[in-house]
Amino acid sequence: MRCHSTRGTERVSLVEAIAQGLAPDGGLYVPESLPRVTLSAGTSLADTATALLQPYFADEVIDVAAVCRAAFTFDAPLRKLSGSNSLLELFHGPTAAFKDFGARFLAECVVRLPQPPKTILVATSGDTGAAVAAAFHRKPGVRVVILYPDGRVSARQAHQLGAFGDNVHTFRVAGTFDDCQRLVKAAFADEGLRTSRGLGSANSISLGRLLPQMAYYAQAALTLGQLNVVVPTGNLGNALACLMAKRMGLPIGDIALATNANRTLPDFLKAGRYAPQPSVATLANAMDVGAPSNVERLQYWYPDAATIPLTADSVDDATIRDTIRRTWKESGIAVCPHTACGLEVLRRIRARGGQGNWVVAATAHPAKFDTVVEPLIGQTVPVPPALAELLARPSTALPLEASDSAFHAALTTLP
Ligand SMILES: *Cc1c(COP(=O)(O)O)cnc(C)c1O
Repeated sequence: MRCHSTRGTERVSLVEAIAQGLAPDGGLYVPESLPRVTLSAGTSLADTATALLQPYFADEVIDVAAVCRAAFTFDAPLRKLSGSNSLLELFHGPTAAFKDFGARFLAECVVRLPQPPKTILVATSGDTGAAVAAAFHRKPGVRVVILYPDGRVSARQAHQLGAFGDNVHTFRVAGTFDDCQRLVKAAFADEGLRTSRGLGSANSISLGRLLPQMAYYAQAALTLGQLNVVVPTGNLGNALACLMAKRMGLPIGDIALATNANRTLPDFLKAGRYAPQPSVATLANAMDVGAPSNVERLQYWYPDAATIPLTADSVDDATIRDTIRRTWKESGIAVCPHTACGLEVLRRIRARGGQGNWVVAATAHPAKFDTVVEPLIGQTVPVPPALAELLARPSTALPLEASDSAFHAALTTLP
């Protein structure tokens, strides 16, 4: 499928768009069309993903069926809450957050590129880095370099980020997440470094991460027949994938975004005017985003904001805590702070008389946020096996000063 930038009309192939990540004009790639598909229920997630993504890869050099088989090795099960409310559990991958789906699909595409990159750079505020590292771990011919802000991720996240070893190199940067992103951008802008180290990106704006996220919404819609969805949202990647699945003809009705105290999206949808804000720190830290990157795709598809078929509501930290406590008391289910935002938004929808099947995307396993969740429910949360395995490994991250020259030196001396 041909793709083009949100800021231009020059066409590239989907594989080229995946290889590039960001378009050269600074825009985000979008596919030329969202083909309508008819899928059947009762197949595996990998088969649903293949059927859904085949139209995009039809004239491409990458075999999407092989990519889906390799990437989608775990499920996204529905878990009934009460009545017609369910959780869509997206945390059964190796790093226990939904980003495993996109990261693994992208990694399987990247290693099949005609000229695969040799060094994948990722700046992370927590979950992305681990998902990308896990997806590329021990893949021959490619190394991953992770930058995370020292002291600004949870203890378990930090351990996880440094626990891979082998072809994964982890740096803890003396600075903020924005510093990490700035270092990565500067490295890409350095032509010499880019070619000598064969730099590639696994950025969350890549179509290689966005497109596969449609698969679990499609699978859930086929299973339930018809559903409405609440998506806990930061950069709008997961929710946009849900909207794209709906536009491809899947039986998805309402899509409601749940944000934490970062209100940029609710304010945008209410006022129709996009005003990015500085991000504020919350308990749902993977959604601490004040300028959601995928808004640019949304605005491209819906130039008139009044026609955007999404609603959004914001949930503060006190309500996140209450929701984690209440969900445990009422259903015996421990949820992460991001999922709690979604559950609260669903509670408000039902209180207003919302009907039909509703599904809340459960974006991370609660054990990843043990220091928040455990005191609230008065229990330890059992750690899922894949995460336990990582946490049992030794962990090392090299310290890095937040300067371009220090990162340049580190990159040139990597084995
Ligand atoms: C990344 C992340 C989100 C936000 O997803 P977006 O695609 O950025 O909207 C929500 N929850 C968790 C646990 C995450 O890791």
